[in-house]
Amino acid sequence: MSLSMDDRDGFIWLDGKVVPWRDSRMHVLTHALHYGSAVFEGERIYDGRVFRLAAHSQRLINSARLLDYEIPWTRQQIEEATRAVVKANGLQSGYVRPIAWRGSEVMGVSAIGTTVHLAIAPWAQEGRLSVQARDAGINVTMAKYRRPSADFAPGHAKVAGLYLICGIEKDKALKAGFDDALMLDWKGDLAESTGANIFLVIDGTLVTPTPENFLDGITRRAVMSLARKRGWSVEERTVKPQELSRASEVFLCGTAAEIVPVGSVDGHNYQAGPVARTLMADFHKLVRSPDCEGFGESTHL
Ligand code: PLP
Repeated sequence: MSLSMDDRDGFIWLDGKVVPWRDSRMHVLTHALHYGSAVFEGERIYDGRVFRLAAHSQRLINSARLLDYEIPWTRQQIEEATRAVVKANGLQSGYVRPIAWRGSEVMGVSAIGTTVHLAIAPWAQEGRLSVQARDAGINVTMAKYRRPSADFAPGHAKVAGLYLICGIEKDKALKAGFDDALMLDWKGDLAESTGANIFLVIDGTLVTPTPENFLDGITRRAVMSLARKRGWSVEERTVKPQELSRASEVFLCGTAAEIVPVGSVDGHNYQAGPVARTLMADFHKLVRSPDCEGFGESTHL
């Protein structure tokens, strides 16, 4: 079974209980709605199991701590709750969206005195990319806005407010006929796309920017480990945007994207090449392996 975003017949886990979607309501004075105090995850279901469930659940807790709050559930409880949502909705594939946020008891910038809520929502819509676009590679443009400074954007956190710029740039890109935008960090180095990490193949080496101030993706970690297992050389380092023109292949990776080749950056074309395809095949074996739900290579969390 798969749910669409508008299908409210399914079930959601909300503050400790699996309830019908229709029963989930949010007060208009919710702190997170006004001041962005929400943290979230995006997780993908393969054959009824959630890839790197432990790692995603821990990252959710870490993200909340960055905003100075504790989610009132342990990692193990969050994992159980996620499994309960997958089971209640009978999902074999699709996504789940855990989200924690500060509630509505107190109005004002300070979140002190507000309750921390947690919901785990099934989110089974397939990505907007067609199979054809995936095969040929997606077309991307360079974003105007940069990711915010390292002072408040550590790579381990997935904080709602940090996505404001991503959303603006993604919409601009889509309206201009591109599939996505590539973002620079606050210093002007290559960072990631609006919702996925980036890899370049330069002189036979797999190169990826160091995620000091953007998301250190769980898929990204899996990709680096798969490449190293093949004996390929992998470099995590500062990447200048000019290096895009030297790359023989470019691809993005993330929970929603999985591994998707980039066909062009502002008209500069790439082959949707062998490195991305090989890693995609390896990745599909990994998500069906016995340790699918664990931390895997995401031990940094
Ligand atoms: N970067 C951003 C901004 C994202 O939203 C995502 C997706 O969640 C990623 C990177 C990839 O992270 P992950 O592989 O953990 O899904």
